[in-house]
Amino acid sequence: MAAKIGMKNPVVELDGDEMTRVLWALVKEQLILPYVDLKTEYYDLGLVNRDATHDAVTVESARAIARRGVGVKCATITANAARRTEYNLKNLYPSPNATIRAILDGTVFRKPIIVSGIKPSISTWKKPIVIGRHAYGDVYKNAEMAIPGPGRVELVYTPREGEQQRQIVAEMEGPGIVQGMHNLDGSIENFARSCFLYALDEKLPVWFAAKDTISKIYDGRFKELFNRVYETEFKAQCAAAGVSYFYTLIDDAVARVVKGEGGFLWACKNYDGDVMSDMVASAAGSLAMMTSVLVSPSGAVEYEAAHGTVQQHYYRWQKGERTSTNPAALIFAWTGALAKRAELDHTPELGAFAKNLEAATLRTIEEGDMPGDLARLASPAPPRVLDSWEFTGAIAKRLRRP
Ligand code: NAP
Ligand code: MG
Repeated sequence: MAAKIGMKNPVVELDGDEMTRVLWALVKEQLILPYVDLKTEYYDLGLVNRDATHDAVTVESARAIARRGVGVKCATITANAARRTEYNLKNLYPSPNATIRAILDGTVFRKPIIVSGIKPSISTWKKPIVIGRHAYGDVYKNAEMAIPGPGRVELVYTPREGEQQRQIVAEMEGPGIVQGMHNLDGSIENFARSCFLYALDEKLPVWFAAKDTISKIYDGRFKELFNRVYETEFKAQCAAAGVSYFYTLIDDAVARVVKGEGGFLWACKNYDGDVMSDMVASAAGSLAMMTSVLVSPSGAVEYEAAHGTVQQHYYRWQKGERTSTNPAALIFAWTGALAKRAELDHTPELGAFAKNLEAATLRTIEEGDMPGDLARLASPAPPRVLDSWEFTGAIAKRLRRP
């Protein structure tokens, strides 16, 4: 057996819940530990430990990612009333992803894993479309009100010092609804920075779209700040790397996306990103083939799968079933983190291993060994559907004999 590949610095490892926790251990044991002398700073973000530590473990893990520069995260349960009963929880803490995102002030990028034999529903797509979603404000931090009857609705700004400003939203003639929302220049600028950092890393053109023809001040500010960050901070680097920047209206962007061949970063405002990432994921194939990375404006990164803990599969696994849950996006979370660590530490052997593991995973699927979610989409259909253990074993076999 060849010596294992060494690591200079650890990756911050955030363990999680349910079926993805089961697959997490399987992927490490079968596909990473035999080859890499793995160094991780480990945090258990399983719901039981989050509850036991009053969620301190989540905050500590996010700070560790900021300090170390690279994290890898398993899917975690976002607690709700049903989970409180199921796990006998003391408290309902917010989603770990929201907590981590708030600490790292990051932007989430989602990218489908493309394999031949699994055709996207949009036939012109040849290369992945990456969605960069702004994760602060707009309708996700709104104030809304039901209006019972006729009357005036106004926006009022009360500064810490100085004169109030008011603007009429509507003279309501009857009952209706009203909504107020906001964003911050600093958050929009950090969003733009994260997008250009990601695009430079991946050598992708950047598209940004909003509706500044209708929303001249709100969306106009997004357009203006995005442009300014590009012009003043990134233009020279982008030119040197061959990375272009393009602004258009959101409806024009949608029309171009479905007619284009992909291969760009689509920077989206919060709501557009929520909607469009589901569109891109579904049109590209399976939720289990969508990777996700959080990039902070300081450059710290956290890799994960875009899917959740696959709860229903977990209950079946607990009853003894060997489920056919697809670990591909979890594998790519690990390879993303190891490759980034290799780049930062200048350890090319580790980087090459990450590439080999990705190639072995793709080849396994392309040669017809695949779990159920892909078997349903594949043409030709595979002779047989593999369970998670068989599929991981099939990847391990190809990793041993490239
Ligand atoms: P989910 O775990 O993403 O699963 C939804 C469905 O998608 C599954 O039932 C399964 O469909 C399919 N699926 C997802 N991943 C798959 C995989 N790897 N292989 C095969 N099929 C896969 O979403 P959920 O069931 O709505 O949420 C479960 C828990 O995850 C919740 O507690 C939620 O809070 C949490 N969650 C966490 C994150 C995160 O940590 N990033 C993200 C989303 C949700 P079939 O049943 O048809 O096979
Ligand atoms: Mg959504």
